[in-house]
Amino acid sequence: MSFVVTPPVQASVPVSGENGRFPVRRVYCIGRNYAAHAREMGHDPDREPPFFFCKPADAVWPVAPGETRDLPYPPKTSDLHHEVELVVAIGKGGANIPVASAMQHVYGYAVGLDMTRRDRQQDMKDLARPWELGKAFDGSAPVGFITPAAQAGDIEQARISLHVNGQPKQDGNVNQMIWSIAESISYLSEYFRLEAGDLLFTGTPEGVGPVVTGDVLQASLDGVDTLSVRLV
Ligand code: MN
Repeated sequence: MSFVVTPPVQASVPVSGENGRFPVRRVYCIGRNYAAHAREMGHDPDREPPFFFCKPADAVWPVAPGETRDLPYPPKTSDLHHEVELVVAIGKGGANIPVASAMQHVYGYAVGLDMTRRDRQQDMKDLARPWELGKAFDGSAPVGFITPAAQAGDIEQARISLHVNGQPKQDGNVNQMIWSIAESISYLSEYFRLEAGDLLFTGTPEGVGPVVTGDVLQASLDGVDTLSVRLV
């Protein structure tokens, strides 16, 4: 097969303990999946249906364990926020996946950052426009190496936290998610056929806030490799 321009590089994330990498097809993100974060953003955390947005696959910014990788501070914002999130890597596709079998579609887990231009997101909310300018910019999805599900321990009881320059900013537990991993996969699969290679960012606990150039962000999730980036 020939192409009229050079085809893009396949986005991917390394897998802990494996030579092969996880190829990224799509990146889905859930909004407001922790009650305390919904409240801090001015919303009622009652169990309204989950909602989703997407980031492009090449917004994924893989970071090796033990590395602090430079992450460019994006243009067109003066209010860049961190959101630490459990990332689910889908290993088996499907549509209309029942909750009871949804976990069989998981390949593994990682910790990620849903980096957000909060000022641009607020503009888009005010204008009832899509969120891409706030959420889908280049480098908006730093992700640590993926750990296969069987080696990640009890991920549904995992502590998830974020430190900025060594100071604790976010500290939650996956068991605080309004929509569980299985429920999120099931619901999303009613709207999109999921495929192996999809990533799902599952929402952030409370404590989001702004970061500036020079800040070092360290994201931790029990059972998977830690993620560290420095804004440059
Ligand atoms: Mn988020």
